[in-house]
Amino acid sequence: MPPDWDFEADVVVVGFGAAGACAALEAAAAGRSVLILDRFCGGGATALSGGVVYAGGGTAQQRAAGVTDTPAAMLGYLRTEVGDAVPEATLREFCDGSAAMLAWLEGHGVPFEGSLCPDKTSYPTNRHFLYYSGSELSAADASGPDSGTGPPAPRGHRTLGRGTSGGLLYARLAAAVRGAGVRGAGVRVLTQTAARHLVTDPADPAGRVTGVQCSSLRRAPGWVRLAHRVVHRLSVKPYLYLPKLGRVLHRPAGWLERRYARPLRIAARHGVVLAAGGFAASRPMMRAHAPNARGGLPLATPGDDGSGIGLGTEIGGATAFLDRVSVWRFLSPPPALLGGVLVDRAGQRICDESRYGAALGDAIVRHGGRAWLLVDARTRAEARRQVRRSTLWFQRLQAWYLLSLGAVRAPTVAGVAARAGVDPGGLAATLAACNAAARDPAVPDPAGKPAAVRRPQDQPPYYLIDVSVRPRLFYPAPVLTLGGLVVSPQTGQVLRPDGRPVAGLYAAGRTAAGLCSRSYVSGLSLADCVFSGRRAGHHAATEGVTLRRT
Ligand SMILES: Cc1cc2nc3c(=O)[nH]c(=O)nc-3n(C[C@H](O)[C@H](O)[C@H](O)COP(=O)(O)OP(=O)(O)OC[C@H]3O[C@@H](n4cnc5c(N)ncnc54)[C@H](O)[C@@H]3O)c2cc1C
Repeated sequence: MPPDWDFEADVVVVGFGAAGACAALEAAAAGRSVLILDRFCGGGATALSGGVVYAGGGTAQQRAAGVTDTPAAMLGYLRTEVGDAVPEATLREFCDGSAAMLAWLEGHGVPFEGSLCPDKTSYPTNRHFLYYSGSELSAADASGPDSGTGPPAPRGHRTLGRGTSGGLLYARLAAAVRGAGVRGAGVRVLTQTAARHLVTDPADPAGRVTGVQCSSLRRAPGWVRLAHRVVHRLSVKPYLYLPKLGRVLHRPAGWLERRYARPLRIAARHGVVLAAGGFAASRPMMRAHAPNARGGLPLATPGDDGSGIGLGTEIGGATAFLDRVSVWRFLSPPPALLGGVLVDRAGQRICDESRYGAALGDAIVRHGGRAWLLVDARTRAEARRQVRRSTLWFQRLQAWYLLSLGAVRAPTVAGVAARAGVDPGGLAATLAACNAAARDPAVPDPAGKPAAVRRPQDQPPYYLIDVSVRPRLFYPAPVLTLGGLVVSPQTGQVLRPDGRPVAGLYAAGRTAAGLCSRSYVSGLSLADCVFSGRRAGHHAATEGVTLRRT
């Protein structure tokens, strides 16, 4: 190793979440030495996540649940969500290999199970681990049997663990990575080491990436490393629910880094994979790219500061879909609320209420961010009865808000509209059309809601529940960034604005634009992390040329 480098490896992976772990596993499987570095101790948003992986085409769990699914049906549905985010061939490759990808995860110790959830929900309870995690039911109903979307199939595979099971998913991947190191492929993890800049070869006209310039607490006193670890760990959960408090709690971590971190240079003989998460924690980037998501709750850790994307753009990488930010507005659980009618201030219908929460959030943002759900006394009573059996603790707070604090009530439709500040004439007309469709399945619902979910809302008193995208303690609107660096669909290599690849540089997960960049359904981000992480790790290991030493 030349004297000006502190470490070297064939493949250097920046960020130890799902995408980084999968990249490392593939690079190690190709026989390369791998060095993973993480600003904190690894885990990222992956470890906080619900652990839902979108998979189908006939997974072992779907078969165990008696579900019929094919890669073609999965492709048919996902095409409507993914759109132009990736080329058709890439989407097809993802769907064709989906069942095998889930088996690959299982092979690395991540458990799944085929217990099918009977309700349409934002997240199943601890009794169920397979569910309709997108808008599959609505899409199938709206487009009809001959649409090519095939029979709707549940594809949300929740990692088999209690509570939000992303922690288990990450723990198993991290153990597999460390195991790969033990088995001799040479995987090393440098924690508390942040990538600050990429190093390029000045003698190479293509500006090949040859390493990473870092700042690291490796040589800091023990108490500094401990304090940094503890501060980060204690602030990530508060950051999810009360971002302002989380930011304050996290501040000492930044101070410790500024005061004690020392420069470190890591050479990458074959390639660098950027897998450092998204940018929901960067206020300047959010202001610049997603002003409509203001008031949302960053679905992220303080590590999602856009630094991974910044590393790529600094040396000429292009970005895409940075303005695509998923804002979640789940109405279910309790599932009875899907029978309600979602309207804007003019009383106009916003969209089919049974669609996935990110689709609802997207539609609400397009209607100016204000929205109300109209339900009648019968629907509300049914929803109240469902709360206990259909929710986990974090959903219970939301359900409680929707059924109490968040609603105004009146004996008539005009009265409830006046109380909420919604146009009474518009609301009455919208409700009449929805009720006609709910009473007679032959009458099409104006927003295409499936017949099975339609319910007439005609039993007074009426309630208008405020489901606007606004800062709310009990009903926050989680926000996930979806865009990132543009990468080659074949290799995961970072591309310049003119389409030429940046030699030696790859990106994956939420640092890159990928499968979920146009529209998110539950599980598609983690699925993309696995898909794009494996692709980047494999190609960085097998395609790169050896670092030229002068
Ligand atoms: C509460 C919650 C629930 C979710 N549920 C789901 C779900 O069920 N299914 C789903 O598909 N998606 C879900 N998501 C989204 C999903 O978890 C993330 O999109 C995904 O985990 C991103 O993975 P990643 O590997 O790209 O980044 P991360 O998992 O965030 O990992 C990035 C890592 O990079 C490190 N890092 C950052 N900057 C640097 C730097 N400069 N140098 C070195 N290291 C750096 C960070 O410390 C971090 O460890 C959820 C997210 C949250 C927060």
